[in-house]
Amino acid sequence: MEFRDLKTQYHALGDKMNEAILDVCSSGRYIGGPQVDELERVLAEYVGLKHCITCANGTDALQLALLAWGVGPSDAVFIPDFTFFSTGEVVSSVGANPVFVDVCERTFNLDAQSLWNAIEYVKANTDLTPRAVIAVDLFGLPADYPSIRRICDEEGLLLLEDGAQGFGGSILGHMACSFGDISTTSFFPAKPLGCYGDGGACFTDNDEWATLMRSYAVHGKGAMKYDNVRIGMNSRLDTIQAAILLVKFQSFKEREIEAVNTFANDYSELLNSASDRLGFELPEIPDGYVSSWAQYTLKMADGQQRDQIKDYLSGCDIPTMVYYPKPMHDQLAFIDKSILPPDGCPVTSSLCRRVLSLPMGPYLGSDNLQRVSNAFAAL
Ligand SMILES: *Cc1c(COP(=O)(O)O)cnc(C)c1O
Repeated sequence: MEFRDLKTQYHALGDKMNEAILDVCSSGRYIGGPQVDELERVLAEYVGLKHCITCANGTDALQLALLAWGVGPSDAVFIPDFTFFSTGEVVSSVGANPVFVDVCERTFNLDAQSLWNAIEYVKANTDLTPRAVIAVDLFGLPADYPSIRRICDEEGLLLLEDGAQGFGGSILGHMACSFGDISTTSFFPAKPLGCYGDGGACFTDNDEWATLMRSYAVHGKGAMKYDNVRIGMNSRLDTIQAAILLVKFQSFKEREIEAVNTFANDYSELLNSASDRLGFELPEIPDGYVSSWAQYTLKMADGQQRDQIKDYLSGCDIPTMVYYPKPMHDQLAFIDKSILPPDGCPVTSSLCRRVLSLPMGPYLGSDNLQRVSNAFAAL
């Protein structure tokens, strides 16, 4: 069994994928071009915003947003303690200061009360300017944007949505990657919408930020390519990846989001009695929310049970992953370069010991689902 079955997807997409790739090869145009323009148009339309700016990966997308806002050394940026490293890395990359905020046990996402506490702590105890919040749509579930937006408005903070895992999710019909002042995603192969290499995108309704992000992504270009008005990056989405994404997006929209939600419901039904019996928790989706199910993540009773069940499943030839084994505040790279408010992040620390992600994806297949379910039933 594959943890995320990308090969089956490739075969399911059939000749369309090969044709799209070969079209780019024979066109002689490998950077930019009509595929990139078309992809930006359809993705912006899908999330319901004016601008989509593609770039080289999801980490660059986050960094481009911070550069467009001019976030820098005197600024504090609030990020969840429970996330992939990039979310905090980009804050340090632009010279600003990451402040770690605890998450909700139920949703794995940024906790509004902890965010309030962290903002108060920074205002009372540091010389830093609270500038921005990066909220993450972890495992495919949009963060609590109604609450986070209220806090950002009240405190005058910019909101950046890290939708690397969230593309395709929604809250009350509003699409993920539309909740931030700028939102970003990643097209890393294993993300909900992935390409065959690295890729990423920024989304915004703001014309000025869109122009700035396009400039930063191409060596700080001005009115034309050899006019450089600021120090930027080299961060473009390759034409071939755009062509791949155009094919995949069609299937994502038409089939995959629905398929992955069906698998998640089936998982939850099949694992329900094992969860009661063994005392672990299944993922929960709040009312009005739709997840794109980047991961299907269990919360085991404790660390010992997590490690035992992980080993047991591995013995049954069922691959699992631990996202994430370490809180951001414990990462060596952030020692001395970050702020952890005095309450710490106890929920994150506990989750890091207890989470276990099962194989998931739109091509998982009901046979595999049944195999996982049988393995749990035999425990
Ligand atoms: C994958 C991921 C990123 C980074 O995306 P890349 O395309 O790998 O650079 C950022 N944030 C989160 C939450 C991610 O899962």
